[in-house]
Amino acid sequence: MKGKEELERILARIDGKGYKSYKDIQGSYLFDTYTLHIDHVQGDPFAAPSRLRVRVDQRYARIPADFYNTPVRRVACADFLTRGFARAIEQVVGGRRGTGKSGLISIDHCGQEILERTAMVVTGEYVEARFVLGFPARGRTVLGKQARVMLFEELPAVVEASLFYKNIDGKSLRKHVEAKEDQDYLRSKLTEHNLVAFIANGSVLPRQSGISDRPLRGEGVVSFVSPPELAVEITLPNAGPVKGMGIPRGVTLIVGGGYHGKSTLLKALERGVYDHIPGDGREMVVTLDTAVKIRAEDGRRVEKVDISPFINNLPNNQDTVNFSTPNASGSTSQAANIMEALEVGAKVLLMDEDTSATNFMIRDVRMQRLVAKEKEPITPFIDKVRQLWLELGVSTVLVLGGSGDYFDVADTIIMMDSYRPRQVTEIAKGIALEFTTARHAEGGSRFGRIKERIPLPSGLEPIRGGKIKLQARGLHSIQYGSWDIDLSGVEQLVDSSQTRAIGEIIHYAARNYLNGRTTLRQALEQVERDIEKEGLDVISPFYGQHPGDFARSRPLEVAAAINRLRGLSVR
Ligand code: ADP
Ligand code: MG
Repeated sequence: MKGKEELERILARIDGKGYKSYKDIQGSYLFDTYTLHIDHVQGDPFAAPSRLRVRVDQRYARIPADFYNTPVRRVACADFLTRGFARAIEQVVGGRRGTGKSGLISIDHCGQEILERTAMVVTGEYVEARFVLGFPARGRTVLGKQARVMLFEELPAVVEASLFYKNIDGKSLRKHVEAKEDQDYLRSKLTEHNLVAFIANGSVLPRQSGISDRPLRGEGVVSFVSPPELAVEITLPNAGPVKGMGIPRGVTLIVGGGYHGKSTLLKALERGVYDHIPGDGREMVVTLDTAVKIRAEDGRRVEKVDISPFINNLPNNQDTVNFSTPNASGSTSQAANIMEALEVGAKVLLMDEDTSATNFMIRDVRMQRLVAKEKEPITPFIDKVRQLWLELGVSTVLVLGGSGDYFDVADTIIMMDSYRPRQVTEIAKGIALEFTTARHAEGGSRFGRIKERIPLPSGLEPIRGGKIKLQARGLHSIQYGSWDIDLSGVEQLVDSSQTRAIGEIIHYAARNYLNGRTTLRQALEQVERDIEKEGLDVISPFYGQHPGDFARSRPLEVAAAINRLRGLSVR
């Protein structure tokens, strides 16, 4: 390995030369307390910035093993270090830079969730930060002296401040690790307590705004308190006993007047499949990680999904056992979203009337009289929700302020009243007895079949014009070959690094497992096993010296992306 002096010499030599001569510094260099890997150097100042890694031996980093000696702790510790690295960049580099990517140092951004990421690796031997750096230029000329400042003054300061335990706030690190460990534990105890979700007393659910995921603050904020009937206490490994509301398995309704906090509660449950950072307000709100938000998504493509439990007798004899369409309606898209989620193992469905198709949710007695069953292709969800639970063990949590017909099919009814939950099951059941409806169930005797589909390899190649074209754009879009995957209906995606990873995972699954004989579910299970064994690095085409901007998502979200790929074809 070359010494850092070599790097200094090259920088002096290429100073003032054409930008391409930066390529000469690609390689690994030994610094006093770490190794710098310059894995990929950008071709010009306006291209994506260069990819670098810093690996600090634990002899110097000295992070106590206690913080990373289980998989859960390791993820939390890496998350903490990533945030610290980003803060140190902010402090050291600050805003004093020219335009473009020139002079930039940046590591993957972390939001309110604690996610497994490729940006930071912590092992017993070393800590490794993966980040990007824009090598500085004037026009297209190498600014060697500025590059020297970045690599020999700024970067060492960032590393020193954020990756050496002696400079880290150990108390905060401990809190971070313990918070994640507690959430994971809490989630693992849900089934034992017969719950699908838990919301601790004192949680703060509302967010600052539609575009900010930070907690709402101020006098008007009502923190969460469980109704006594649903109160559960669970003892956590770090925080000790914690009390809160348990949402039981089965069918749960969240009712209440408009603007009383129903959707906010459901949103928190959707996000409860992730662990949150201390101070988020939802760091004790957990949901089973098989919970999937289901919504209507008209316009989406559907490829040979069996939606017959919900939709039959479409006009023109359209097949609903192998239902395909380039342009689904509200109700057919919602049915497809449910069936696709069940296909890959969803055990809890989360639905909100705000984003559901009304005709998919209800069909009241008057409509039953006017429009005969034979003339209505849709079997409404109300007639299937109990079968889902009793036959398949799939629970539903449903926000619904508009139809009391659901009182008949619910096990638990929670009413939001000025942001405070009340348990109103008995009251609502009493009302249902008093005001019976002559509505008859239309769901048949069984839920129906859940089909596992086998994707064909053709259409899974991200090729456009003979070249691999695979790029995520923000949170909701992936260009995959000649197709754009629209993920705006996949509401449990929270981080654009997940979106990037999903694009690569599809390609990885296509290369390794989706051979035309493997079901989608089997292939995703294989990918999960690989990631468990080798880490999230495994999906990267730059394995070993990869970009460092992937975050883990659930197989459920990967499946959702594959299902929205317009090139997908299924056997
Ligand atoms: P609903 O779905 O019942 O119509 P929302 O959940 O959309 O109501 O909430 C309405 C408004 O109230 C939102 O602006 C939300 O941020 C705010 N809100 C929700 N929960 C709380 C709370 N616990 N404290 C203060 N404001 C809240
Ligand atoms: Mg609402």
